[in-house]
Amino acid sequence: MQQENEQMKYVKFTKEDKAIIMKSLEEQHFETFISYFRNTELLVECQYMLTHSLQKLAPTENAEFQVGNRHYYVKITDMIKIRINNEWAAFIKGHIYYRAQDVQNYKQDFPKLNECTSKDLFLTDQTEWFISTTFLQKIQVKPIDEYNILTIELNDEYYTRAEYNTQEQKFNPPISEWITYCFCKKLYNPREHYIQCNQCNQWVHYSCSDRSDKELKIISELKFICFQCVEENKNNKLNLQDNENQDGQLTKLNTTIQVNKKK
Ligand SMILES: [Zn+2]
Ligand SMILES: [Zn+2]
Repeated sequence: MQQENEQMKYVKFTKEDKAIIMKSLEEQHFETFISYFRNTELLVECQYMLTHSLQKLAPTENAEFQVGNRHYYVKITDMIKIRINNEWAAFIKGHIYYRAQDVQNYKQDFPKLNECTSKDLFLTDQTEWFISTTFLQKIQVKPIDEYNILTIELNDEYYTRAEYNTQEQKFNPPISEWITYCFCKKLYNPREHYIQCNQCNQWVHYSCSDRSDKELKIISELKFICFQCVEENKNNKLNLQDNENQDGQLTKLNTTIQVNKKK
């Protein structure tokens, strides 16, 4: 009772306010809930929080939350705690990372996203609040070209190719500038195996190379020539032969002319 009075010193909520506050908390409309505590002594901004594994979690870091069955990937921007019923509850706000399938109409508008993997994250302009009890783990999100192939199967490592603006429905950089390899021009996927051609230096998927994995293992230590270069080499050889043939014919022709002149 005493503590309730103490709270009343700072905040006077009407009956209607209280009803909204409780409802917004129940329905997890944290933005509304928090707005009632702004500029009161019941809300404290935090520089960092301790996770259940006693790791420090701070703004600019990335985290995974689970709300019901849904997982959220978030770049943290704000952390606060609010005193409710004489206990502190912590809330974390951040920008949401989309996965490929979160992009609206991606099958029609961005079919290339089909080539993304479960490790692909796209930072968006969308923000959301999470209650700290839904925090799952810290995650690492790296630019795809800095992604370490050795840690690929760790479940807290992700990579990113671009940011996504949900208002303009645009990627930055645009999909046309994302890294692709091989003749098939599929998006780079660090989980796939590639072999480099010794002639043109192009990286080719194992699966697109026309060779078995076993063959490739032996070849990769020696020399691999992609089928495009093999074709090119064949054509060059043919051209060379053609030129020789033409030269031969020319010589013959010249001789005939000379012979005719002599006549
Ligand atoms: Zn390929
Ligand atoms: Zn080649």
